[in-house]
Amino acid sequence: MVAGPNVFTTAQMQVKGAVEELGLPEAVYEILKQPLRFFEVSIPVVMDDGRVRVFTGFRSQHNDALGPTKGGLRFFTQVTQDEVKALSMWMTFKCAVLGLPYGGGKGAIICNPKELSRKELEHLSRGYIRNVSQIVGPDKDIPAPDVYTNPQIMAWMVDEFSRMRERNSFGLMTGKPLILGGSAGRNEATGRGCVTCAAEACRRLGIEIKGARVVVEGYGNAGSVAARLIHDLGAKVTAVNDSRGGIYSPNGLDPRAVLEHKERTGSVAGFPGTRSISDEELLQLECEILVPAALENQITAKVAEGIRAKIISEAANGPTTPDADTILAKKGVFVIPDILASAGGVTVSYFEWVQNNMNYYWSEEEVNEKLETMMAKSFDAVHRVHQTRGVTMRRAAFMVAVSRVAEAMKARGWLD
Ligand code: GLU
Repeated sequence: MVAGPNVFTTAQMQVKGAVEELGLPEAVYEILKQPLRFFEVSIPVVMDDGRVRVFTGFRSQHNDALGPTKGGLRFFTQVTQDEVKALSMWMTFKCAVLGLPYGGGKGAIICNPKELSRKELEHLSRGYIRNVSQIVGPDKDIPAPDVYTNPQIMAWMVDEFSRMRERNSFGLMTGKPLILGGSAGRNEATGRGCVTCAAEACRRLGIEIKGARVVVEGYGNAGSVAARLIHDLGAKVTAVNDSRGGIYSPNGLDPRAVLEHKERTGSVAGFPGTRSISDEELLQLECEILVPAALENQITAKVAEGIRAKIISEAANGPTTPDADTILAKKGVFVIPDILASAGGVTVSYFEWVQNNMNYYWSEEEVNEKLETMMAKSFDAVHRVHQTRGVTMRRAAFMVAVSRVAEAMKARGWLD
C-alpha cells in the first residue's frame, strides 16, 4: 500500500460521516463499510525466459444497488487488499455523485508493468480476465484503465473474454481503443472533468482562471491532460512532477512540450529552462489551483500545513489524508473531492458502454459537451449541499452519493 494511513479506514470514515450527517439508519453504514464481494486470483504466466511466474490479482465489488459494479484495474507493485477495497468503495460514491447507473468496483494485479515485456503483459492481462470471467461482464462488473493500465490492455481482455463467450463483448471493458468500440474523448476525460470542476470553483470563488497559477502533481493520463486543458483556458502551469522528479518555472510551462519531453526521456525531470523541485516543495507552492493527479496519501497533515493553494481539484483517488482534510478546511482551502473531481473518466466510460450497447457512436464534441454538462451539474448539486449544510465539499459529495445509494438499497428492500 502507498505509505500513510490505511485508505480503507479513510473511506469508511468518510461514509460514516455522511451517514451520520444525513441521519440515516446505522444499517446503511453496516452495508457500505465493506465490499459485497472480494476476489483474489493467482495468474500463472510463462515469462520470456521460459520460467513460470505466478501473479496475484484482486477484484472488489463494493456495492451494486445502483447498477453493475464499475471501476478501473491497476497494475502496481505495492497494492494491497485494503487499498483495492477502498478504491472500490470510492467508485460506488463517484458513480453515485455523477448519477451514473453503476455501483463501484476496482481491481488490481501486483506487478511492475515497466519490467514486463509486451508479450508478458499480454499473457498476464489475458490470464487475469480468464480468472475473473465468472464475476465480470457487461451487465455485472465493467473494468477500465487505472494506474499503469491502458487501452491495449483493455483490448487484450475484451478479446480473451469474447473468445471465451464465443460472442463479441465490447461492453465488458471501457477505455478501449477507438477501433474496438472505445469512445472518443475517453483518454482525456479524467483531466477534462477535473478542469471543469476547477473552473466551476474559480467562478464561485471569484478567481480569474486566465493567468491563474496551476501546480500539477503527477504527469500521467490525468495530470498531463489537466495541465494542457487548463493551460488552453489561459492558466499558467508553473510546476509539474512525476515519480522521477519535478520541474518549476514561475513564468509557466508549455504542457505539450513537457509531455513530449517525458515521452522522449521517461520523465518530466530535466525539462529545459526549469529548476528542479522536490515533491513536498511542489505541493506547497503558492498557486491558485493545485491538482493532485498521482496516488493516495500525497497530501498529509505535514504537507497540508504548508499548502498555499486556494483550490485543490483532486484528479487522483484518495490523495488527501483525513488529518490533512481537517487542516485544509481550517485554512479555508477549497477542496473539490476526488469522488467528484476525478469522475470524468468513469462518466465517459459510461458513455462508452452506452455506445457499445446501442452500437452507435458519438463525435468527440458530443462526448465532451455531455461530459462537461454532467460535471457542472454534479458540481452544482454538491456545492449546494456544501452551502446549505455548512459542510466541506468532500462531506457534501459523500452526502449526495450516500443518500442516492441508500435510496436504491431501500427501494430494493435491503433496508427497512
Ligand atoms: N480508473 C478510473 C477511476 O478511478 C476510471 C474508472 C472507469 O472508467 O470505470 O475513476
